[in-house]
Amino acid sequence: MIKPHPTTVLMYHAVSAVGDGFSRADAHYSVGPTQFLEQLQIVRDAGRRPQSVQSLLLRPEASAVAFTFDDGDVSNAWAAQALHDAGGSGDFFVNTQTIGKTGHLSWQALRDMTAAGMSIQSHAHSHRYLDELTLAEVEQELHTSKAMLEDKLGCPVELFAPPGGRMPAGMHLTTTRLGYKAICSSRVALWHDLRSDDIPRLAVLRGTTPAQFAKWLAQDRLELLRQRLRYGALISSKQLLGNTNYERVRRGLLRLASGGR
Ligand SMILES: [Zn+2]
Repeated sequence: MIKPHPTTVLMYHAVSAVGDGFSRADAHYSVGPTQFLEQLQIVRDAGRRPQSVQSLLLRPEASAVAFTFDDGDVSNAWAAQALHDAGGSGDFFVNTQTIGKTGHLSWQALRDMTAAGMSIQSHAHSHRYLDELTLAEVEQELHTSKAMLEDKLGCPVELFAPPGGRMPAGMHLTTTRLGYKAICSSRVALWHDLRSDDIPRLAVLRGTTPAQFAKWLAQDRLELLRQRLRYGALISSKQLLGNTNYERVRRGLLRLASGGR
């Protein structure tokens, strides 16, 4: 039996230049506009096409690569246009609480993106870590965001990306009960099984090199193993330090790395 080709699912945040005055995103997790266009070119050169996870669930494609974006940064409207110009699409996971707030996409921008064939999905209502909330609060986050997006955009919201990639035990049961088809997680792997309700993703960062990006598309085993080990180290430091301390330590390290800004 021929095994279907796995899909590389990419996870972006902001696509903006550092200090552009609009985006409030963390520089480490942002990619620059030129870097993003270069990556789209690498996708084209590899004979592949940017797609949304949502459309791949409906119509699987052998040579697709999925583009996803978390946090609803204002710069995502530009990225959506670039994907559209490349004949492709992507999923944008937004927090309904911050829509229209400074540095974030507006409802009008989301409507325009929907009209251009983009998939708008839930990143919860607020950006609180779900493993620090009660079950009732988790349900509220999942329900409110889905209902608001579906009401205002008129499109089905069936995918969920947990804030910070953090999930309480039994998360899949909760999302299924509330009408979601799958979770786009931060687990580092390729998407092998289109029927699975856990979709792993590879985080594209400012430090992601063109060579690395090309290897993710080519699904190079050694490079994927390297990414998994890196992510494993990140998770264990989060567990050791706890969420709040982890964020504080990480911010401190990033400040040091950027010359003490
Ligand atoms: Zn997020």
